[in-house]
Amino acid sequence: MTHIFHRSPLTPPKLAARGQSNYLIDASGRRYYDGSGGAAVSCLGHGHPEVIDAMIEQLRKLEYAHTSFFSSEPAERLADTLVRQSPAGLGHVYFLSSGSEAVEAALKMARQYHVERGERTRRHTIGRLQSYHGNTLGALAIGGHQGRRALYQPLLVESHHVSPCFARHYRLAGETDDAYGTRLAQELEQTILALGPETVSAFIAETVVGATAGAVCAVPGYFEKIRRVCDRHGVLLILDEVMCGLGRTGAYHAFQREGVEPDLLCLAKGLGGGYQPIAAVMAQEKIVDAIVSGSGAFQHGHTYIGHPVACAAALAVQNIIERDGLVRRSAQLGETLHRLLRDRFGGHPHVGDIRGRGLFQAIELVARREPDTPFDPDLRLHALIKREALARGLACYPGGGTMDGVRGDHVLLAPPFLATQAELEEAVDILAAAVDAAIASVGV
Ligand code: PLP
Repeated sequence: MTHIFHRSPLTPPKLAARGQSNYLIDASGRRYYDGSGGAAVSCLGHGHPEVIDAMIEQLRKLEYAHTSFFSSEPAERLADTLVRQSPAGLGHVYFLSSGSEAVEAALKMARQYHVERGERTRRHTIGRLQSYHGNTLGALAIGGHQGRRALYQPLLVESHHVSPCFARHYRLAGETDDAYGTRLAQELEQTILALGPETVSAFIAETVVGATAGAVCAVPGYFEKIRRVCDRHGVLLILDEVMCGLGRTGAYHAFQREGVEPDLLCLAKGLGGGYQPIAAVMAQEKIVDAIVSGSGAFQHGHTYIGHPVACAAALAVQNIIERDGLVRRSAQLGETLHRLLRDRFGGHPHVGDIRGRGLFQAIELVARREPDTPFDPDLRLHALIKREALARGLACYPGGGTMDGVRGDHVLLAPPFLATQAELEEAVDILAAAVDAAIASVGV
């Protein structure tokens, strides 16, 4: 009997003994292809010698210094790197240790920005029904992951939600992308007006939706319309690129494909590539200026923020991504992966959609085609596919059904940027066998 309180105590996970390039190896020596990089974390795979060397070197120099006394060289250099690679306005970086912490910090930073400007009433944040922003109570409140919220209602933080941008399921018959985006922007504006613009602090959205819906991109023009609504009412735009950021979608920041810039940007997973827990909030100059020229400091902080070894690991990861052109590789390999998924599942009677950007791709399962009808969520088909894939040597990220409050089960693939074409071919083969086995097991 294990003493760890596992995520699913009734089905404890396998023991991962080692990682080797894009594979995980369990205690019995069995290899699993890391087809989703955990949860879009392991962008460089496992055991990358340069990252490990950078961490060891930093450990030998300085393992820890509290940020209320000291900064550290890797933290300063990592912030410089992130700012250099970002649009001009995103000039400041606040380090954290997880995606949830980054979201919490961004929500607080937005609130403090308004307070510093004398707008004390701006306390509401608006999120989207389909997004996941983390498991802490504030991030849960603003997220739209029904399964993870259900047990904790009412949540500590009062929150407000608008519709997701998910054309496949929610665009009306005959509605154009432009009309759909306009309708969603109007819904946001009406929500702001109903609450009273003077009470709204920020709107938060995942640029490309990950865990809850499976690599869902907004329709063209959506974010520009949303940005205009936010600007009209002095509401800050927070983009959560914890999962989809830093090259995952084939762009350095996913928002660079949307023609907008956020006021606050949340980053995590791929920042440290899993070598250390590290996250960041990037902020526009105006936010930091308001705070510094107001009360002088962001009223926040955690013991381990800006951890020197975590920053050294992330700096090495980001330097390798830049030096080796891995954002471009993510875009190119993403096209390969998308084509492989289309070739394999294009005519599949139970795959209704193949979607994604870069190395962030998903398939959505349907019980029947035309009209596409989801499987009964109680079958938890996504979990069965995960199990069947793992039994065949592939780790992939499932979601959907009642768990997410979104129609349809899906499976997300987010392999390391160093994946090879042969690995992707094998992963898609295994996924196809797992999908068929899972569907057969529910008697369809
Ligand atoms: N935001 C998004 C978009 C995520 O996908 C996640 C995690 O999956 C989080 C926030 C929370 O990150 P963490 O699990 O590191 O707290």
